[in-house]
Amino acid sequence: MSRIEGGCLCGAVRYRSGAEPVATAVCHCKHCQRQSGSAFSIIVGVPAASLEFSGTALAAFDDRGASGGAVRRRFCPRCGSPIVSEVEATPGLSWIKAGTLDDISWLKPALHLWCDSAQPWVALDPAATKFARNMPAG
Ligand SMILES: [Zn+2]
Ligand SMILES: [Zn+2]
Repeated sequence: MSRIEGGCLCGAVRYRSGAEPVATAVCHCKHCQRQSGSAFSIIVGVPAASLEFSGTALAAFDDRGASGGAVRRRFCPRCGSPIVSEVEATPGLSWIKAGTLDDISWLKPALHLWCDSAQPWVALDPAATKFARNMPAG
């Protein structure tokens, strides 16, 4: 069974990928806080070409990330669950919102991004790799 399989809250949108995740990160940026209504996003990067959607077509909001790059945030038009983001800075990758995965038992985010805007009560794992803002390019 693929580890990358999931869907939105109402079940209208489903997705899967046979690819192995390229990266798993926690993003503490203000935009992720607003979109998720929570303290951060947990995101899993997979090759965009490997991702298959079924059910209702996703709606999209074209955002600008805190560092100015284009971010297309795609969500279920029925229930509003954020599903995936496509980030100009990481072409060819789709960043799945990991809260929508069916099975999260394997998840172990190794990176924390935008720690400068992390909510103060959130305790970060001292062993994790942390960036004050975005991942340095290259
Ligand atoms: Zn939905
Ligand atoms: Zn973010």
